[in-house]
Amino acid sequence: MENQVSKPKFLIIGLLFAFLSTSWGFFAHKEINKIAVYSLPPELGSFYKKHVHFITDHAVDPDKRRYILPQEAPKHYWDKEFYTDSILYRSTPIPYHQAVNRYSLDSIHRHGSLPWNLTYLILQLTQAFREKEVSRIIKLSSDIGHYVGDLHVPLHTTKNYNGQLTHQQGIHGLWESRLPEIYQETYFYYVQKPDYIINKEKAVWDALRASNQAVDSVLSFERKVALSLPAAQHFTYEERNGSTIRTYSRVFCQKYHVLLNGMVERRLQASVYLLASIWYSAWMDAGSPDLNPQEGVHLTPEEMQEQQKLLQLPASQGCIHP
Ligand SMILES: [Zn+2]
Repeated sequence: MENQVSKPKFLIIGLLFAFLSTSWGFFAHKEINKIAVYSLPPELGSFYKKHVHFITDHAVDPDKRRYILPQEAPKHYWDKEFYTDSILYRSTPIPYHQAVNRYSLDSIHRHGSLPWNLTYLILQLTQAFREKEVSRIIKLSSDIGHYVGDLHVPLHTTKNYNGQLTHQQGIHGLWESRLPEIYQETYFYYVQKPDYIINKEKAVWDALRASNQAVDSVLSFERKVALSLPAAQHFTYEERNGSTIRTYSRVFCQKYHVLLNGMVERRLQASVYLLASIWYSAWMDAGSPDLNPQEGVHLTPEEMQEQQKLLQLPASQGCIHP
């Protein structure tokens, strides 16, 4: 992303995870959205701060929508094995319409549309800023935050998303839920102040590529830990909300955490930086409009209906392949 940014400024924000939720899908998505709001420069940050509760509370709506809208699921992942290196390492990202011609809509629905959907939403956000439509700006900002978070999870970029192809079932939850559950209080977000990104599409694909490049480590380190411990020490049983669940043991997690050497925390930090930079850049592209911070978020009748359905779904369902 180095070539596409200007005005490099740095802002160090140390934030302590003090939340007790146990899921990346639930906890980290909300934190990413919230911290991105507070890292914005004042000219835009004062507007976003007025809406920080909505942006944070609705950070997991896209995951919930997957249970009521069949077209939602592919927006959360991208299977590199299907699309291959030739797409991921192109100097110019392949636009959506070309991808549809090349792979068919059906295949894209199966193998994921995360980078194309996110790029499309960024254009929508820019348009909403131009039209000063506060409701759309806030709703799009919250959704974009979710997909930016997913973009930074290595296992969202591979068809082996839960280690099911390499006999490492459960690794998805280990990386994005169990480790944050144990280490959340040690995570600090050293966040760069957002930059203006000239080429947002390229920034999205750069982040996707960085996530995919981490897949090998995510899988091989888990394998290394598994081989170093007797099978009886891999899992343990813990009490959660009155039930007993089987989960990775503390010793397994500690060894994995050490081998990952801060990877989870770095991907969280990168999510916050890119998200705030996307919001800021969309606003700049729209001519830095003055927005009425007093205006609230209004839901259309269809959106209210959707919210009713979403509220009935459990918040703890994580973000994983269908
Ligand atoms: Zn998701």
